[in-house]
Amino acid sequence: MQATTQLIHAIPVDPQTGAIAVPIYQTSTFVQEAPGVNKGYDYARSGNPTRATLEDLVAQLEGGSTGAAFASGLAAIDAVLKLLQTGDEIVAVDDIYGGAFRLFEQVYKKFGISVKYVDTTKPEEVFNALTPKTKLIWIETPTNPTLKITDIRAIAKIAKAQKCLLAVDNTFASPALQRPLLLGADLVVHSGTKYLGGHSDLIAGIVVTADPDLGKLIKFYQNASGAVLGPFDSWLLIRGIETLHLRVRQHSASALEVAKFLEKHPAVEKVFYPGLVNHPGHDVAKSQSKGGFGGIVTFRLKEDTIEAANTFVTSTSLFKLAESLGGIKSLVSHPAQMTHKTIPAEKRKAAGVTDGLVRLSVGLEDAEDLIEDLQRALEKIGTLSEAAAKRAIETVKVLVNA
Ligand SMILES: *Cc1c(COP(=O)(O)O)cnc(C)c1O
Repeated sequence: MQATTQLIHAIPVDPQTGAIAVPIYQTSTFVQEAPGVNKGYDYARSGNPTRATLEDLVAQLEGGSTGAAFASGLAAIDAVLKLLQTGDEIVAVDDIYGGAFRLFEQVYKKFGISVKYVDTTKPEEVFNALTPKTKLIWIETPTNPTLKITDIRAIAKIAKAQKCLLAVDNTFASPALQRPLLLGADLVVHSGTKYLGGHSDLIAGIVVTADPDLGKLIKFYQNASGAVLGPFDSWLLIRGIETLHLRVRQHSASALEVAKFLEKHPAVEKVFYPGLVNHPGHDVAKSQSKGGFGGIVTFRLKEDTIEAANTFVTSTSLFKLAESLGGIKSLVSHPAQMTHKTIPAEKRKAAGVTDGLVRLSVGLEDAEDLIEDLQRALEKIGTLSEAAAKRAIETVKVLVNA
């Protein structure tokens, strides 16, 4: 059976009423027949049927055995970090999501957990960073915003040899394209806020594990710390996931068209998109993900300045200027002033996040319309007007000579 068919039918019909949609159990507690005798639920932090349906669904989607739904992506990451103890070390991808960086550096560091950041696109750097204290390797692939690709299989082998856990933040690819547990990862986390939800209408987080014992621990911390996803948002997330494959397929197809358009544009210096054959991670991305390369396209303007970027991001009309990604409406963001503004300029630029870098989340509008929107915004930038003027002059010369 194909993944989409399997997914749609993984959502059970309500056995009590036959309701084809999942009921929202908006309740805090469950009546017991006698102390400890219940129908599988006693208190909604510990378990809620709507949330349980979501958790089973994401577990299946990622090819795991246990799913746990949290109030945000960061709460999901937090639950994974609780597996560690004082003195443990983490080796993490160097251009990690900013919120995860803040959690590592400003919360867990003071509890004696330290993190080494390395370029995980080079497995040997991960290997060299390991010590007997390393208990967790943390990767994102593709990364934000330069879409670097890490070889999940290679890092999983290193993690196995070291007997430490490998966690993959799979937010950017989504399980419609990439299933890290099947490539050897121990844990997958998501910001459900992005592609899983898909409609920019909720904040949610997910952890999935393949190992039931690890799953029990995650569930323990989910209940013990209590950052659970509420029943309505669980329902909303289920509803988003129902169309995940369809959406991500279209996001990816349109993003590839957008990337190809930008690549040829004279005002654009460089395009970062794993679907382009010249992307350094193209072959690895192709070998570990199926069906496309995702909906995020990043590019650097030839005029690599804040001014040029500001002109561009305020000139699009379909691409709305906002944080976040993965929704049906296209978004544009300027990492240097938004998601990456807290990183010191030197460090940020060294990681490729220069002043003229722009990130697009390609939505579900018609690709032709999106490209027209980008074309118009690019025309507003100074260098382009010059290039366009030059081209116009060339065209006139050709016409005059004809
Ligand atoms: C957004 C995001 C997160 C955090 O998720 P929230 O739902 O905002 O808490 C984590 N990782 C990645 C890659 C993200 O894009």
